[in-house]
Amino acid sequence: MQSIGDIINNLNPEIAKKHNLAQIYQQVLADRNVQQFLNQHKDQITSEMIKKSWSNLYEYYLAQHKQDPVTAGYRPELFLNHHAIDLRYVPDESKIEQNLRANTKKHLHLISLPETLHDVRLSQVDGTAAGRVEALAAIQQFLAGYPQNPHQQGLYLSGSFGVGKTYLLAGVANSVAAMGKQVVFLHVPTFIAGLSSHFEDNSLQKEIDRVSQADVLLLDDIGAETLSQWSRDDVLGVILQARMDNVLPTFFSSNFAMADLEDHFKETKNALDPIKAKRLMERVRTLAKEVVVSGPNRRH
Ligand code: ADP
Ligand code: MG
Repeated sequence: MQSIGDIINNLNPEIAKKHNLAQIYQQVLADRNVQQFLNQHKDQITSEMIKKSWSNLYEYYLAQHKQDPVTAGYRPELFLNHHAIDLRYVPDESKIEQNLRANTKKHLHLISLPETLHDVRLSQVDGTAAGRVEALAAIQQFLAGYPQNPHQQGLYLSGSFGVGKTYLLAGVANSVAAMGKQVVFLHVPTFIAGLSSHFEDNSLQKEIDRVSQADVLLLDDIGAETLSQWSRDDVLGVILQARMDNVLPTFFSSNFAMADLEDHFKETKNALDPIKAKRLMERVRTLAKEVVVSGPNRRH
């Protein structure tokens, strides 16, 4: 490799003088990061390459020192590209995090649940609290196996009000969404109560399909909804059947233990129907394994 002095001496003296190029060359080539790059690759880099790649070196030099909203969150990086020095912009750490966050958000569809659940990460959950150990272990086992086997059984988190069931499901939802899978997390009571709003624009079937076909579905607070025969059999029943048929992971949270949920399903607004309730309960049992979550009420 030639010295910086040689390179400068090789410039066309007329042009160099006119634009004060020698000085700019010197500045760029003396830049600490440029120097470091040239030293790192001194066996491969020739002065010919430096001349040929001049505009990249110059842009790299400028990019390090300017605040440009277009490249905010990216840093310039030199690299060898065949026989030239090339320039690329690589996301800095915070940009990687931002991308992951945006991607996660895009893949998780919340229905009738607060937007703040997008921010819940399982890594923030204290895993040592006795009432959550089993649930967290089961969740971790599911997530670890999910990339290889997207057809696992889900979990049914039961436990009293405020122990953190919704929070745990939000953690699962975001973890799966971060893998780029489509996730639907919905609050069952509000979803059931709002079904009639779809009648006007015939969007009900589309909504049911979206919920049925999500890679992972999480049904929050099942058992707290007020059911009609129709919403039990033709909405909830249909969704759960589709999940079973396609072996798609489905999670639940409920204040009811599985053993008590059947009684809730028996009773609709104007009928008692133990057979239909049993059938629905069979689907829940097939789809998910019950894990009890306990602990203090975290709402106070
Ligand atoms: P549940 O669904 O069992 O009724 P939630 O998941 O809604 O309970 O949790 C109750 C409150 O406690 C919520 O405000 C939630 O954000 C908070 N919370 C639950 N688990 C945790 C946790 N591990 N760390 C921090 N806050 C939590
Ligand atoms: Mg809840």
